[in-house]
Amino acid sequence: MITIEPINRLTTQLARLPGIGQKTAQRLAYHILDVPPAQAQELAEAILSARRDVHSCPVCGTYTDVTPCAICTDEGRDGSVLCVVCEARDVLAMERTREFRGKYHVLHGVLSPMDGIGPSDLHINSLLERVANPSVKEVIFALRATIEGDTTGYYIFKKLPRRDEITISTLAKGIAIGNDLEYTDELTLGRSLVNRVKFSLNG
Ligand code: ZN
Repeated sequence: MITIEPINRLTTQLARLPGIGQKTAQRLAYHILDVPPAQAQELAEAILSARRDVHSCPVCGTYTDVTPCAICTDEGRDGSVLCVVCEARDVLAMERTREFRGKYHVLHGVLSPMDGIGPSDLHINSLLERVANPSVKEVIFALRATIEGDTTGYYIFKKLPRRDEITISTLAKGIAIGNDLEYTDELTLGRSLVNRVKFSLNG
């Protein structure tokens, strides 16, 4: 079998992407070699520019190329409602439902002791600081329906300030277990937001 080092290198990198197996990686590598050089250049530059120009919003943690992000500075959005999500891409999923007009807080992961991910690895303290502001009236957990997602929700719930005027809720069950928010269709996700339930430690 012949090995062409630059193709191997490209294939290896593509195969590291989620959902891309070895065969698909090979097919993509050969496709990249078949397209006009300018198109391959654009792909490479888009990757570099996204990594260079995009960062986490210092307020909410979502990915943005402006500081703070467009959602945080949108006066038309209700800053008294915070939706807590695991990943920046979950913000996109929530936005697609068109049901949410509050603001977000991205944790950048879930608690996972097995993988050595503890509270200090997530954006939990910044969330607690935001919620300490009396203008916040509702916190909605829109976390993954997995054990780690639940554990993370419980951990934060116990740390949140108890104030009479603050409601802590979670998406209604309707999201299949383990699904990422981004793979849940907008209607289901939108419905589970509208039908959100009071958060309780008994699940
Ligand atoms: Zn923001």
